[in-house]
Parts: sequence; C-alpha cells; structure tokens
Amino acid sequence: MKDCIEAQRSFFDSGETLDLNFRRTQLKLLEELLRENEEQLFDAIYSDFQKSEFETTVTELELIYREIREAVRKLDRWARPQRAATNLLNFPSYSFVMPEPLGVSLIIGTWNYPYQLCLLPAVAAMAAGCTVVLKPSELAPTSSAIMAKLINENFHPGYFWVEEGDAATTRELLKHKFDKIFFTGSTEVGKIIYKAAAEHLTPVTLELGGKSPAFVTANCDLGMSVKRLIYAKFINAGQTCIAPDYVMVDKQIEQQFLQRCKEEIQKAEYSISNHNYVQIVNHRHFDRLLALLNEEKVYYGGETHRDARTISPTILRNVDFSDAIMQEEIFGPLLPVIPYDGLDLALKQAAQLPKPLSCYVFSKRKAEQRKVLNALSFGGGCINEALMHVTNPHLPFGGVGASGFGRYHLKAGFLTFSNLKGVMKKPSWFELNLKYHPLTTVKLWWIRLLYRV
Ligand code: NAD
Repeated sequence: MKDCIEAQRSFFDSGETLDLNFRRTQLKLLEELLRENEEQLFDAIYSDFQKSEFETTVTELELIYREIREAVRKLDRWARPQRAATNLLNFPSYSFVMPEPLGVSLIIGTWNYPYQLCLLPAVAAMAAGCTVVLKPSELAPTSSAIMAKLINENFHPGYFWVEEGDAATTRELLKHKFDKIFFTGSTEVGKIIYKAAAEHLTPVTLELGGKSPAFVTANCDLGMSVKRLIYAKFINAGQTCIAPDYVMVDKQIEQQFLQRCKEEIQKAEYSISNHNYVQIVNHRHFDRLLALLNEEKVYYGGETHRDARTISPTILRNVDFSDAIMQEEIFGPLLPVIPYDGLDLALKQAAQLPKPLSCYVFSKRKAEQRKVLNALSFGGGCINEALMHVTNPHLPFGGVGASGFGRYHLKAGFLTFSNLKGVMKKPSWFELNLKYHPLTTVKLWWIRLLYRV
C-alpha cells in the first residue's frame, strides 16, 4: 500500500497528468475496458446481489460512458483559465482562475451501485488530472474484483490503482497522506473518514445517506405519481441512497394512494420469485430490515426469504415519526406511508430529521411545489418525479448536513478534484501610491472609496 501511494506521488509529481491529451487517452481507455468486458461486469454484479443486465446498463454503465464522453469533449473548456473581473483598487490588472489537479486522490466506494459509485468519481478525478487509488466495497466482492482486474492490469499503478479490502484496508489507507478523499457511504463511516482526513488536512467530499422524503399532495396526478414513486423506491430493492425513504401523503387521498401503490407493485415485476429482483446485500442488512418491519403495519407485501436474502416490496401504513422505521435510513424495500393533515405541518415534522440527500414533491400546484422546496434543506430532488435527477449530468450531485457535502458529475466533479488558483496579473507602467508611506488621511479617504467601487 505504501509503495503504491509513493508510486502515485511520484507519477503525479512527474507532471504527466497535466497533459490534457494524456487525461483524454486514459478516460477513453477506461471506457474501452468497460465496453469490452460488459459481460463479465454483468455476471459479477449478478452474482453479488442479483442485479440484472438491464438495470446495470441503465443505472451504472451508461452513466459512466456518458460522463466519460462529456469529459473528453469538454476538458479543454473546463481546464482553461477562466477570466475574472478586477476591482478598481487594482487597476490596471487582469485576473483569472486557473484549475490545477489536487494530486493523489483516494476514492472509497460503496456496494449498492458498485460500478457507478466507484467509477464516476474516478472519471472526475482523471479529468481533473489527479491520480486515483480506488477502494471499492467488500460487500460486493465480485464487482470489486472485476474492477480491480480490469484497472490494475491495464493502467499504470502510479496513475490508477484499485486496492480491494474491507474496513481495515480503508483504515490503513487513511493513515497515509492523500491530496483529496472522496467517500461514498454511511453517515457513521463518513465521520470516521472526516476525522482521519483532518490529521493531514486533506480536503474531503462526503456522499452520505439519510431519510429522503416524498410529499404527495391531493393536487397531484395520482396515477403517474405512484408509478414513478414505486419505481424509485423498489429499484435495486430500495438500496438506493436517493430512494424515497418514506412518503407523506395528504390524508384525503391516502386510501386511493395505498390502493394504487398495491396495483403498481403488482403490475411491475417486483416479486421475490423474479430472478431480476435484487437481493438484500447480506444477512446483516436483511436482519436489520426485518427488525424495522412491524407486521401489524404492513398494508401490502411483507414476504421475506432469509436464505435467498429477499424481501418483497412492502408498503406500511399508519406509520408515525416515533416508529423504529423512522429512526434510521431504511435502505431496503420497505415504504412507510404517513398521512398528513396540512402540508405545513408535514413539512415541520420532516424538518425535525437530519437534512436528507433528496426530497420529492408530487403536486400540480406551483405554490405547493415552492413551499416544499423552500421549507426543507436537502441535496437535490425532483418535482413530480423521484430519483431521476441523478441521471441528469448537468445537475451537481451531493448532500448537505448529515447527508454529506461537496458535489460531483461533469464540471462539478472536475472542480471537486481541482484547486482553483486565483491569479491577478499587473503591469509595471502604472502604480497608485496610496498604500505606501507616508500614510495620510487623504490616502485613507481614497482607499476607502476605491474599496467601495
Ligand atoms: P459503509 O459506510 O458501511 O461503507 C462504505 C465504505 O466504507 C466501504 O468501502 C467500507 O469498506 C468502508 N468502511 C466501512 N466501515 C468502515 C470503518 N469502520 N472504517 C473505515 N472504512 C469503513 O456504507 P454502506 O452501508 O456499505 O452503504 C450504505 C450507505 O451509503 C447508505 O447510508 C447510503 O445512503 C449511502 N450511500 C450514499 C450515496 C451517495 O451518493 N450519497 C450512494 C450510495 C450509498
């Protein structure tokens, strides 16, 4: 590990990654490797938690390909120094902001979208000109192994290296000095990462989780709202950081809402017997979810198979904020539905929880949409849709408060792995002598004036 990090440091110091053509070539190589080995990537993720080729393509590989293509296309524009304005006090100067790569980066990924959550940050780091040590999650071991094989056999280890292992490996990595740490995972582990990074004053991006709410008002298009919500909740068996964690529904339409949810689940192919229904990642998470599943509150679903690690899409009703299921991020196929009597009150209740990664509002009324957006602080979200904002690369992605900080995807990702040097260039043919001795009252008057304009 020490050798690998030293090799990365000297590779970075060689200046090779400053060359934009080098960055483009490496990004294209990554795309080529993934495209040529798609079958192996599909098999690996299927054996980890039964994720299908269709969902792997839609929610992982295509996002990575698109990000690479855009980065290659826009790299010149992103990396070019950007002109900035100059104030009158500094006349006559020219100012600009110059991005430079931060250096050797450590990316710690998680398992629920193993390719996307490891490789999208890596693409951002490569575009910015950083070197990358990637630590995927041990909870998706086959997906981790295929990434390690493809990357370690095809990239210079001083440039891009995958270090497989568990929490102990992460702890060991964290003892070393990196120039940037990008972590995706739970809020608890995020705190450990942040503390370790402070030791070296390493800048950190934390992509964490939380309880993302969805608000369904009486003024929504009920059919379409339920269709989109059910998709967003049960894809990947609810193991999605931006899945709607719970739904608050206007009590006037609660019955119709529940009925529609049931019909929509029956229509979709989300069932335990379907080989494309994603498994819960391990027995520890399975048992955690079981403890949250209060059978008395099950409206629909609730079927569990411990051996197969599957839980059917489950809707819970009559849930309130004191229930166990409302005390932690669910991260599984259990959807609590909480009826509300007045949107203001519902928003007040949701605002008591730590700031979530996402928030969704289903309503045709602009006033209600605005009310939700203004009342809650969250990382990102959708109006009359759920989850899909992550597939729009032009929106910076990340959390706030307990759901993390920092942003990525396209230019936001490039900037996350860059240091922005602010530079002012001044000619020698003119100097306002105001700042020099003797320090007079008249000079002070002028300086005060020039600071204001
Ligand atoms: P986790 O925090 O347990 O693990 C993530 C990574 O941290 C893994 O690589 C793991 O090896 C490492 N790790 C685990 N324990 C550690 C420790 N004690 N010390 C050092 N490293 C340690 O996360 P998880 O449970 O696998 O993933 C689920 C969480 O991740 C959920 O909270 C979810 O919301 C969040 N998540 C967030 C995003 C996002 O983009 N914001 C995406 C996916 C998942």
